[in-house]
Amino acid sequence: METIVEIIDENNIDDKALAVLKKAGDILKNGGLVAFPTETVYGLGGDALNPESSKKIYAAKGRPSDNPLIVHVADMESLKKIVDNIPDAAYKLADVLWPGPLTMIMNKSDAVPYETTGGLNTVAIRMPSNKIAAELIRQAGGYIAAPSANISGRPSPTEAKYCIEDLDGRVEMIIDGGSVGIGLESTIIDLTVDTPMILRPGYVTQKMLEDILGGVSIDKTILSATSGVKPKAPGMKYRHYAPKGELTIVEGKPEAVTAFINEQTGQHSANGEKCGVIATTETFSLYKADVVKCAGGRDDEEEIARNLFRILREFDDENVDCMFSEAFDENGIGQAIMNRLLKAAGHRVIKV
Ligand code: AMP
Ligand code: MG
Repeated sequence: METIVEIIDENNIDDKALAVLKKAGDILKNGGLVAFPTETVYGLGGDALNPESSKKIYAAKGRPSDNPLIVHVADMESLKKIVDNIPDAAYKLADVLWPGPLTMIMNKSDAVPYETTGGLNTVAIRMPSNKIAAELIRQAGGYIAAPSANISGRPSPTEAKYCIEDLDGRVEMIIDGGSVGIGLESTIIDLTVDTPMILRPGYVTQKMLEDILGGVSIDKTILSATSGVKPKAPGMKYRHYAPKGELTIVEGKPEAVTAFINEQTGQHSANGEKCGVIATTETFSLYKADVVKCAGGRDDEEEIARNLFRILREFDDENVDCMFSEAFDENGIGQAIMNRLLKAAGHRVIKV
């Protein structure tokens, strides 16, 4: 299949852009696939109510079919068709946080095929704030199932060029809307249990959710190695975000971390391996590895979130064999950053 790539400026959706989005919407209505930007990461979209489209998404990504997709909507009205009994909590959260980087799990109606929910009776729903995504959803008839637009297991794409790298020839269209604003996937909250539970941390933090709902619990597997206990979001059990080389997270006092990483990269380099380091503004100049990348300042976790997946992809592009990353605080968005980093590292952590 030939993949068309179209560029759209989110801040200038003119008639030409609308024509492209109409064409993309028609592709989706006809059962085809379109990769598109959202504020979190790029999505790989298909018609959420068409079982054949969902099957195509799994095939294009090489994703296990028990790993459910998120259904993207453009307005609250749309929930009525796909949800069985919309909980009050959904309205409360939507009032403050939609459109935005929050996915809510609710009981599905018969309109949603099991192919989209990975066989579950619940459905994950998000209303993205990206204007390109919102218009595309409208043009596609209201419901786009979209996981991240990467080949299963690779870091999620934060720029169109990474969608092209993974999906060229596998989808009908890729919409290039520039770099995404957030860079980590949405926070997922399950509203089908007595106390709403965070299944995946993201830009929307536990504190923000608690301020709206009161008590909110968190799936314990989020920051622990996943062996033993099964995570509640089926997708969280799979290896994810992984660069091609081996990544290790190093935890400890800043000076000890820098010294340990320098010693390690020195040894690996002596063995002929190309080494990379994920550093922060504070430590960037102290590392001696072949490739040193700055994720951002320690006081700006939003910047670190935005840069993380791009850095992991760049290590692949530069054929880095072994990588070391500093650890980050697990407060606020830091929890999501560490969750992704731990998965990318296969939970390889060294304390110094
Ligand atoms: P992705 O969009 O690729 O980041 O993947 C979507 C995530 O949402 C995966 O981790 C899924 O397991 C999770 N998810 C989707 N639907 C459900 C659901 N009904 N219950 C629990 N987790 C879900
Ligand atoms: Mg994903």
